Amino acid sequence: MPTIFTKIINKEIPADILYEDEEVIAFKDINPQAPNHILIIPKKEISTINDIQENDDRLIGKLVRKAADIAKELNIDESGYRLVFNCNKDGGQEVYHIHLHLMGGRKFNWPAG
Ligand code: AMP
Repeated sequence: MPTIFTKIINKEIPADILYEDEEVIAFKDINPQAPNHILIIPKKEISTINDIQENDDRLIGKLVRKAADIAKELNIDESGYRLVFNCNKDGGQEVYHIHLHLMGGRKFNWPAG
């Protein structure tokens, strides 16, 4: 099902895009929880992490690799950062189009709240 992220992919609503290719797009989170907060998403509509299929493995790997590339560009690769996929209600998922949160520029607690 299309979400607000489909509108960003289709350029129907604006976003601050840091990276884009035919499969993946990365843009700044509108409500940042850290000095750097980027969402890396597949253009393919996958609702939740539970819906990933075996033939998506390469695509999901690419999200993680692109997150690391962006962390390097933002100069937070050495200081560190957190990558998060929220899944469903208890995971805190609000947008049902999978997205990898890249957050950095501050220290994060563990265990996560
Ligand atoms: P989640 O709770 O994991 O589903 O995360 C959804 C994220 O999408 C939140 O961090 C929101 O701030 C972010 N978000 C929602 N709408 C937009 C938008 N139009 N542009 C950028 N980020 C958005």
